[in-house]
Amino acid sequence: MNPTRALVLVAFAAFLPGPAVGVDLSALDPKTSPCDDFYQYACGGWMASHPIAPDLPMRGAFTELLERNLAILRSILEKDAVESPARTPVQREIGDYYAACMDEQTIEARGTAPLQPDLDRIAGLTDKAALPDLLARLHLIGTDAFFSLSSQQDDKNAAQMLAIVDQSGLGLSDRDDYLRDDPKTAEQRRLYVEHVRKMLTLLGEPADRAAADAAAVMDVETGLAKVSLDLVSTRDPEKVYHKLSVKDLQALTTGFSWDRYFKGISAPPLAEVNVTVPDFFRGMDALIAKTDLPALRSYLRWRLVHAAAGLLPRAFVDESFAFYGKTIQGAKELPPHWKRCVQRTDNALGEALGQEYVAQTFGDEGKARMRAMVQALKKAMQKDLETVPWMTPATRRAALVKLAAIDEKIGYPDHWLDYSSIRIDRHDALGNAERGREFEFRRSLRKIGKPVDRGEWPLSPPAVNAGYRPQLNDVSFPAGILQPPFYARGGDDAFNLGAVGAFIGHELTHGFDDTGRQYAANGDRQDWWTPEDQKEFEQRASCILDQTSRYTAVGDVKLNGRLDLGETIADNGGMRLAYMVLRDSLAGKPGAEVQGFTPEQRFFLGWGQIWCENNTPEFSRWLALNNPHPPGRYRADGVVSNMPEFQQAFRCKTGAPMAPANRCRVW
Ligand SMILES: [Zn+2]
Repeated sequence: MNPTRALVLVAFAAFLPGPAVGVDLSALDPKTSPCDDFYQYACGGWMASHPIAPDLPMRGAFTELLERNLAILRSILEKDAVESPARTPVQREIGDYYAACMDEQTIEARGTAPLQPDLDRIAGLTDKAALPDLLARLHLIGTDAFFSLSSQQDDKNAAQMLAIVDQSGLGLSDRDDYLRDDPKTAEQRRLYVEHVRKMLTLLGEPADRAAADAAAVMDVETGLAKVSLDLVSTRDPEKVYHKLSVKDLQALTTGFSWDRYFKGISAPPLAEVNVTVPDFFRGMDALIAKTDLPALRSYLRWRLVHAAAGLLPRAFVDESFAFYGKTIQGAKELPPHWKRCVQRTDNALGEALGQEYVAQTFGDEGKARMRAMVQALKKAMQKDLETVPWMTPATRRAALVKLAAIDEKIGYPDHWLDYSSIRIDRHDALGNAERGREFEFRRSLRKIGKPVDRGEWPLSPPAVNAGYRPQLNDVSFPAGILQPPFYARGGDDAFNLGAVGAFIGHELTHGFDDTGRQYAANGDRQDWWTPEDQKEFEQRASCILDQTSRYTAVGDVKLNGRLDLGETIADNGGMRLAYMVLRDSLAGKPGAEVQGFTPEQRFFLGWGQIWCENNTPEFSRWLALNNPHPPGRYRADGVVSNMPEFQQAFRCKTGAPMAPANRCRVW
């Protein structure tokens, strides 16, 4: 459960011809009226001329930017991968990591040998009492099995870091993938068991045994799914906060010794742990008790090979892509090798690669401009909070205190993480990855019981994303997103406000969305709302929830308005704040037409066009079921149809699809 509320979830990339700095006229579909279908109007031309690349499940404005970043990162890494005494220690770290990942010949030649010591450890599990020792080892190297352990800020005392144990251990995206009984999900499960069987076969198991083992894996994971909390509930902070003593944690699991597990990972002395879902751990304990040892070993073998698959010989990479890339997300081809290795290096050593990245792409001038824009949006939010009609004075005051306390992180961290303790070997791709994960795991453990480090970044500098963290009450805008079309030097201000302005407003509004509003200025989860204000908020939020739930993602899959509520409140609020800044900048004057559009029209087109995208049907389905961000079409249309200012800007008749009589507004 990641406490960061992000702007997007971008995992893929596409090719970009060149950045736009205003309305992209070729993206428009002039045959469609903006009042009938704004998204089609803003993006129809773009969608028709930007087919999805075969190695990706989607293509959109965000992914175009990500692709440009990948090309920059590739040039950095290819240079640093060349052995030379002139390399700095940071260049050596990232260069050797990348070189090992790119060295397919060595990876093929070594086969599954790098996994053998851990396969042997799993084969040696002949007593369930020893499971905690084995899990400790597997968790250290980044194998996800049964549950996860890390550190987080204490929800009720944000200044302090606390250990957290959370439900985990599933190979499909969500517990509902194991429990829903529609034909599509049932078929996906059948293909999943097939995939597990093939992976075990690649590990050398005979066909019959692999089939039986894959069935056993499915039984274990289904057992875990049954006791896991559902996705929507995991967004409710109250439902995932159970601070227990280690003794009380132990009382949940009679067969699983936490003492042995904590010793195995060399945990610091623990007084208390946030046990997110106590029922999960009770259920896990019962599941382990009733599952025989061979089935437990099969499950762990599968989890190990799954975590390692990307850095094993090509047959493993291909099989993993065939299921997760093709079947689940609808991509056609495996992404090129360099792209996968750039992403792996960024995942493992993000703040080392980030140093080289920002040196090339981001200056102090960019930081200052961005800070000024965040200030302008903050000022708009202050005005908004001062004037929303439904708040009582007490809640309004607390909201303003919280807004003033929001801290901003722009570009890159003040202090870079030091990865020099990770042994990086040019000939050991999997070992590097495992040692990198162990470094992160131990780093997380070291924070337990300590005061929070407010300078730590949630995203790597090249990330094309932004975030708000309720417990830190801070917003982050990494260097990667501060580029055209989101942030264009010398670009059209009105268009920029609908793009970068709205996404700054989006992150600020997260502090006041359905979960963000449960946290106070200092990051503690604390109720600062009067009952009347709470009622007013919920009533307004439910309007947006219902609006989202009416949208169809694909086929018979609708969006989940409750899952998406934080994001939809943030989108609506963010655009409203950005609009206030636009009005201020125009100071009551009409403003010049540019490209044949008024400033207001360009502003809305800025918002529409950052969401231009094409998704495979598989990816649309996957997003709707697992990701809290609506697809671009509804981010664009949902927001503009709630704004009378849009109706005015495009002179829409009341009752047109984008100018309904009933509108939703929280902030
Ligand atoms: Zn967001």
